Amino acid sequence: MKTLPQVLDEARKCVKCGNCMAQCPVYLETLEEPFVARGKLGLIEAVGEGDSEFSKRFSKILSLCLLCGTCAENCPNGIQADEIIRQARSLFVEERGLSLSQKTIFRYLLDSEQLMPLLLKGGVSLQHLFLEKIPEESGLRLRFPVPFIDQRRLIPPLAQDFFLDLHSGWVRAEKEVKRVGLFVGCVSNYLFPRISRAALDIFLHHGVSIYIPGNQRCCGLPAFGSGDEQTPLSLAQKNIEAFADEDLEKIVAPCASCASMLKLNYPLLFDESDPMRPQALTFSSKVTDASQFLGQFLGQMTISGGQGRKAKRVTYHDPCHLRRKLGIFKEPRSFLKALPGLEYVEMREANRCCGQGGSFNIANYDLSLKILERKIQAIEHSDADVVATACSGCLLQIMDGLHQQGLKKEVRHLVEIVDQATLL
Ligand code: SF4
Ligand code: SF4
Repeated sequence: MKTLPQVLDEARKCVKCGNCMAQCPVYLETLEEPFVARGKLGLIEAVGEGDSEFSKRFSKILSLCLLCGTCAENCPNGIQADEIIRQARSLFVEERGLSLSQKTIFRYLLDSEQLMPLLLKGGVSLQHLFLEKIPEESGLRLRFPVPFIDQRRLIPPLAQDFFLDLHSGWVRAEKEVKRVGLFVGCVSNYLFPRISRAALDIFLHHGVSIYIPGNQRCCGLPAFGSGDEQTPLSLAQKNIEAFADEDLEKIVAPCASCASMLKLNYPLLFDESDPMRPQALTFSSKVTDASQFLGQFLGQMTISGGQGRKAKRVTYHDPCHLRRKLGIFKEPRSFLKALPGLEYVEMREANRCCGQGGSFNIANYDLSLKILERKIQAIEHSDADVVATACSGCLLQIMDGLHQQGLKKEVRHLVEIVDQATLL
C-alpha cells in the first residue's frame, strides 16, 4: 500500500488543465468541480499537505468516482487519476477504518469460506419472500424497502444450482491440446452459471481441458475499489493457492472485471518482502480475459461462416476494465462481426462507462441511472436486438437500465453469443 507522501507526489503531477472534465461521466452529470479528477486530486493534495483532513466529506467526494479510467485515458500528462483516487480511499480506510456495513460485507461475508455460499443457498428458496417477479421481465424486484438496495432496481434471481456446486476439478477435453484454469467469478457462479458453462463448452469443443478449483473465491474487486486492501489480500492468497497445484498454461476469467483484478491488482497487494509475491506474480501473468484467450487461441478455428442470412443485430458495450485497464477492444468486435447469423452494429460511445462502478451504483443509484441513461439511448439508437458485453457488472447494469426505460433487448455475455453461434 502506498504512503500518503507517495500518493501526494502522484497527485501533485496534475497541472489542473481540465482536459479530463469533458469526458468524466460523473462530472458530466453533476457539473461540480470536486467530482472531476482535477478536483479530487486537489483535495488529496490538500490532505497530503495538511490543509485538510480525512473527513467524511473527503470520503464522500472520493466515493463519487466510478474508477472508470476515462480521465487517465484523456490526460495529456499521463496522470493515472483513477488509481490515485483508489489509493487515497485506501489511505482513508487505513486512517478511519471501514464503515460497519463495509466491514460486514467485505470481512465477514466476502472473505468467509462458508457464510456467503450458505446465505445465498438459503436465499434461493427464500428469495420469493423478499422479491417479487416483474410480470413482463425475467427479473425480480424488492417487495418492500431494505437498506442499500433501491426498490426500483431489477434483481436477477439466484441460480437454482450454483456453477461451482456442479462443476469442479478437471473437465477433460477429448483430444487435449491445452490446459487452462477457469476463474468463475461471483456473478457467474451465483446468478448466471450459463456464462461459465458457455466458456466450458467452447473450450472443450476446441480441445482445451479446464481445471476449476471448487474452493476459488471472490476476486476481491468490490472491497479493493472501496479502499479495503486487507480483504482482497486474504482472498488473493486463497485464490492463488486454489490454482497452485495444477500445471496450467493460462487462467481464464470470463468476467473482465475479475480478469483485471487478478491480473493488474493482485501484484499490488503483495509487498516486495512478502514471501508469496513471486507466486502472486506468476499467477497474475497467467491470467487472461476470456475474449483475449478466444482471440489469441481459438480465433481462426472458432470464427467461420460469417456469411448467410443475418437473423439478429448485435451491438457491443466496452467494459472499462477490459478496454481501459486491459487494452482489449478489437477481439470482441472481430468475433461478433464474423459470427454467422449476426449483423454487428457499433453503438455510439461504445466505450463510455455504463455507470456501474462496483459499489458506486449501490451507494449512488440515481446518479448511476443518469449516467446509464446515455448508454441506454445509444443502445436504442443502434436498433440492435442483442447487447453483448464481457463484464458481469456491466451486464447487470445494462439489464437494469433497459428495464428502467421499458426496453426489451437481450443482454448477453460475449462467450454466450460465441457459444450459441458457433457450436450449434
Ligand atoms: S488529471 Fe490530467 S487532464 Fe485532468 S486536470 Fe490533471 S493533468 Fe489535466
Ligand atoms: S475515474 Fe471516471 S468517474 Fe472517476 S474521476 Fe476519472 S473519469 Fe471521473
